[in-house]
Formats: sequence, C-alpha cells, structure tokens
Amino acid sequence: MKSFLLFLVSAAFSYALPIFPGERSEEQNMQLAQKYLNQFYEQENEPGQRGWKSKNSSFMTRIQEMQEFFGLNVTGKVDADTLEVMQQPRCGVPDIGQYVLTLPGWKKTKLTYRIVNYTPDMKRTDVETSIQKAFEVWSAVTPLTFSRVHKGRADITIEFATGVHPRCPRQFDGPLGVLGHAFPPSHPLRGNVHFDEDENWIANLVEQGGADNYHGTLTDDVVAPALKKAPELRSLGFPRQYTTVEFDLRLVAAHEIGHALGLAHSSVPGALMYPNYKPLNDPTDFPLSQDDIDGIQAIYGPSLNPSNKPVKPTLPKMCDPKISFDAITTLRREVIFLKGRQFWRVYPGNSEVDLESISTFWPSLPSDIQAAYENMNDQVLFFKGNHFWVISGFQMQPGYPKAIGHLGFPQTVKKIDAAVFDKNTGKTYFFVGNQYWRYDENSQAMDEDFPRIISDDFPGIDETFDAAFEHNGFFYFFHGSRQWKFDLNAKRVIGVMKNNSWFNC
Ligand code: ZN
Ligand code: CA
Repeated sequence: MKSFLLFLVSAAFSYALPIFPGERSEEQNMQLAQKYLNQFYEQENEPGQRGWKSKNSSFMTRIQEMQEFFGLNVTGKVDADTLEVMQQPRCGVPDIGQYVLTLPGWKKTKLTYRIVNYTPDMKRTDVETSIQKAFEVWSAVTPLTFSRVHKGRADITIEFATGVHPRCPRQFDGPLGVLGHAFPPSHPLRGNVHFDEDENWIANLVEQGGADNYHGTLTDDVVAPALKKAPELRSLGFPRQYTTVEFDLRLVAAHEIGHALGLAHSSVPGALMYPNYKPLNDPTDFPLSQDDIDGIQAIYGPSLNPSNKPVKPTLPKMCDPKISFDAITTLRREVIFLKGRQFWRVYPGNSEVDLESISTFWPSLPSDIQAAYENMNDQVLFFKGNHFWVISGFQMQPGYPKAIGHLGFPQTVKKIDAAVFDKNTGKTYFFVGNQYWRYDENSQAMDEDFPRIISDDFPGIDETFDAAFEHNGFFYFFHGSRQWKFDLNAKRVIGVMKNNSWFNC
C-alpha cells in the first residue's frame, strides 16, 4: 500500500508547470514579466548611501537580477527559461526590495500564534497539525518556542484570504502564482502570515511509524474541495491536467513562518526559503537545508536542547598552528579574521584579540563568508557564493545581498576566493582560482583586460587564496596555515609566515 500511495502522492505533485509561451503573444509575455518584476524585484531604496548608489533600475537590469537570483543565463531578455521560472507557483514576498533584509528578529524566544480562520480544502484538525508541524521545523533548530492561543493577540497570525484582503498591502492573484506571503519582525504588519484561499491546500502528513497515514491526500473529503476549483482554473485557460494542483500546507507554512521570523529568500534551490514551491520527494524529510539553518541561527542562535543541535564543528582555536581563515579584511583600525560563524578582531600593534560571532554584529550576514574587503568609503563588502553584502559604518545596508554580476563578474564566476583593496591606487583585487580581476572603486567598474593569471603578476605565489588583506602598504595572502607578505611595488614576496602571527600566539 505504501508504494502505491507514494506513487499517487508524487503523481499529484510532479505536475509540469502551466506555461504556454506559444499561446501567449510577445506583448503578453512582456506584461507578465513586467508584473513579475514589479512584484518581486522592487526598486531599491538606499538613501544616504555613498559608493554603491541606488539606481533607478531599468527593466533589463531587473530581468538580469532575477536571472542571477535563479541561476538562469543572464540574457536581460524575457526568454523561454525566464518565462518558465516566472510562472512557477511561489511566495509573494519579493526577492529583492525594501523588506528583504529583515533584522533584527523578534526580541523574545517564546512566541504565540493563532489560527484566525480555516481553509475548506482540509479538515480543521489537519490545518492545525500542518501549522503546528510547520512551527516545529523552526523550533527544532533554534531556542524559539511556539504556543497556540485561541483568542486575543498573538505574535504570529495564520489566515486564509483571497484577492485584495483587509489590512494587507499585498494582494492575492487567484489560483497558482502566489501561494502565500508573510511580514517580517521589522514590518508594521509583523507576524501576519497569509495563504491564498484560491489554491488547493492539502495536508501531507505522515505520522511516525505509519505509512498508511497519509491524511487528506486521497480521501473524498479532501479531493472533493480540491476539485471544486477546477472549473475556475479551466475557465482561465489552464488545461485539465493543471487544474488539480495541490499545495502542501505544512511546507508553504514553514516557508512563510521563516519570513515571519525574519528570513529573506534564499537563492539556494534546495533551501526551504527558496521563493518557488518545490514539494519534498519524501514528505517525512526535514525541510530545512543548511542554508536555512545558518540563516535562522544567525538571528536566534542554535537550539538550547542539545539533542536538537545539528552536528557542528568545534570552535577553532586561534593559536592552532593548522588554523586557516575564510576571509580577512580591515575594518577601520582593526583587522578581522573570519572563520565559520565567528571572527577575531585584531588591533595591529596591540596584543588584544577579541572573538565575536558574526550574527551578533550583522544578523543578516551568513556564516562561512568567502571573501571580504574594505573600500575607501567606510564600506566593507562580504562575499559568499555569487552574492555580496555591504556594511557601511558598521550598519548592514538594506537591499543586499546582490549578485556579483553587479561588479562586472561574468556568470561563470560562482565564488570569490579572496579580495583586497589597495588604498594607493583605489583598486580592488579579486582572486578566483588561479586568476584575478581588478576593479576600480572610483569608476565602479572592472578594469579592462582582466582576468589575468595570478602567478604572472604575483611571482612567488602559485597557490589559490583563502583570504587576503592590506596592511601598511603590503598585501598579505593566506592559503591553508601559511601567509605570504607581498610588496606590490617591488612585485615580490618578502616573507612567508604562519597564519596566526597576528594573534600573539
Ligand atoms: Zn517567501
Ligand atoms: Ca495564487
């Protein structure tokens, strides 16, 4: 019985998406793209910022941002792949916009929630169980607890609504498209979680030890209400096979609760916080990826219950002779050495070294940063994968992360190994594998004729880099447990030292 049920469950989900580019005119495609970008790639608002100025993004730039976010070919055109992604069922929260970076999170760990109303698609108890299980996803990896209240005020409210709905600036769009939306702790509507009642909601619950306990998927009381919306969808032109698409309430709720707790969208396709709906292959799977766990723990810290703790590497010791670093940058008069979730603050010429956690300083910055540098505008740029974040005067700037394509990197560059800014020339060097790029901070453009081969211009160094920074006119390059001190003018290595020479070990 189990395999048959599983087959039906996956059949219900393995729908092809309702895209018919051939049936739409060019103009309709453009309208669809424009609407999508207006909704999910908001114009940025970064007042009072130097350096990375806010731009009144053109249609093409926003298409490129969207293509970068989803890892598509960055064509700047509304091509078939882009249209396909634009028509997938997804969350209504923008991928880029004013409330995308949402610090600092709730100021308490004991949160309450209330189910304001119910969907007729599911049994009430299945709605309650789905919502409870969605909260358990987050309480498993954080110190947060969620208790349900039946009346009065609650921190988080769960509500089903259609179209334009009361006291909400966002609206729903009928079947498919947007499935739900939620507001982060920094928003006036904090804690509001809304689901589009025009979708077919199902419970996809598996009780422990019982394979025959798929509630709701196959029973008449659930199939019937799900089918009720079919004529509606068909009248909109969706072929019959798409009209019984069902969405797993627990999964969508867990995603929306992620927003209500302060998380933004992730561009990691396996992450729960990825904007598009992706059913789990096995409904018993834990839906969080490491990216989601890193994100939520950056705000609230890990679970206090040791049995819930995912296995983590132990805290590195700064005097370990084998120590290596993820990234290093100056930060005003300090040098910060990043590793995992932590960084050491070093005050050159002073024996003091402080260990800090990234999340305490910059809650929306992820762990395992891969490169960082400070420019002449009191900004520090942090890189991870093909994204970067900017802090300005110790404050995280809104509207980040951005794709590194904004700096002029080609789509083929998936991560930066190390970055270092040269005060004397106003140039930033980016190291990627055995190549490097040079970026002009004044003109905010990549210099021409790059990338070049590192060993051609930095003789004596034939390693890839983990990290780099500048101090007193010298570049320091790090690989594994060693560092090279490089004289830029003489173009030669003038010393090879242990990594931790900065820590007075
Ligand atoms: Zn979302
Ligand atoms: Ca919808």
